Amino acid sequence: MPRRPFTRSFLLVTPALLVLAACATGTGTTPAVPEGAAPTTAVQETPRAVATAGGVPGTALGDPASSPSTAIDVHRRTTGFLDAGVWISNEMPGGWMDEAWREGDSLVVARIRPENTPINNSAWYAFKVWSPEVRTVDLRLTYDGGRHRYWPKTRTGPQGTWDPLPPEAVRIDTAVGTATLRLEVGPDTLWVAGQEVFTSGAFRAWNDSLASLPYVDLSTVGTSPGGRPLEMLRITNSPQASRHILIIGRQHPPEVTGTLALMAFVEELAGDSPLAREFRRTFQTHVVPLVNPDGVDLGYWRHNTRGVDLNRDWVAFQQPETRTVRDAFLGVTGADGAEVWFAADFHSTNRDVFYTLDRSLETHPPGFMDRWLDRIRRDLPDYTVSDVPSGLQSPTSRNWFYQEFGAPAVIYEVGDATDRTLIREVAATAARALMALLLEEAR
Ligand SMILES: [Zn+2]
Repeated sequence: MPRRPFTRSFLLVTPALLVLAACATGTGTTPAVPEGAAPTTAVQETPRAVATAGGVPGTALGDPASSPSTAIDVHRRTTGFLDAGVWISNEMPGGWMDEAWREGDSLVVARIRPENTPINNSAWYAFKVWSPEVRTVDLRLTYDGGRHRYWPKTRTGPQGTWDPLPPEAVRIDTAVGTATLRLEVGPDTLWVAGQEVFTSGAFRAWNDSLASLPYVDLSTVGTSPGGRPLEMLRITNSPQASRHILIIGRQHPPEVTGTLALMAFVEELAGDSPLAREFRRTFQTHVVPLVNPDGVDLGYWRHNTRGVDLNRDWVAFQQPETRTVRDAFLGVTGADGAEVWFAADFHSTNRDVFYTLDRSLETHPPGFMDRWLDRIRRDLPDYTVSDVPSGLQSPTSRNWFYQEFGAPAVIYEVGDATDRTLIREVAATAARALMALLLEEAR
């Protein structure tokens, strides 16, 4: 794609740092240096204040569940460093990067801030970089309100695979919490992110592919504050079955490894094995794989557009997302005699761990969690099944699943850096163990 050359007059009227309003849709493989770019001002921005209160745009919510400190102010922007020949943009689904500047001749610094505070250190970043010429760029990620957490991955081309940067291309300064990346940049856009970027479009495609199976129904059960659909899959060959399992994921936007596990888990339940077929004759499975589509698509660290951690809203139910999922699950399990026999919420943290319920809490089926984890241990002898039980203090989905249904419920946590093949293997094994044991219970 030919590029408009920089003109001398263009350079004369603008400083080296240009911040340009949305110039590309972010979907092309070779976004040009902004065409027709002759801004008369040095800085144009497209701020999008998305925090709302009662439909009033731009107003911070005084939500007692979370007390967010500030309105969420998302800057979508493409920044060009003309003399360095480098462009950086967060204009993409899941994109997140607050601003960028140059230090010295060779370093680009990108500042990453959370959507609001207080917040835990889920320091998500995702952006695109390109250059008219092939060149090496040193890019430092510096964080406000957090520290470097996610090992950088890159992808070239919209259909390419995400690969972690090699160790020699990443220098992490643990004293100050920054990371400096050495990137090979050229005319083809390089995507850079903390994890594989997996946003609502990818969920939709996955949901649609499952829904092509005759025993899978896909429905829209509600809408997020940002107008995105909340979708639920129902997997069963027996729509009258009174036994249910419930699965949710992605309340926290950067927790992509949890999504990878959820997908492998659900694909096993929807698979073609004799075990899965028998399971679907006895059980119904309901899945909301993406509870926080706004946060995921906007590139947030943790919250929804109202600045709230959704997984702390399962008692107060002040957020549309949690209310919608609760009501959808109550709707599908509302018949007389309906029982929820298992529930799981998929997340990511620094290691693989099952956050289970304290064993003093009686479930139905009784004692099920230990049998399930032991079965996974038996089937994966080289894998360490880490089990951390806790009580009902926190207003999380897991505790709602237990208090509403008496179900054995678990927060299925996957390590940020767990090998992607192992994630799928463990999740598929866990799903097979679940089906086998629940069928034994049902006999
Ligand atoms: Zn989480």
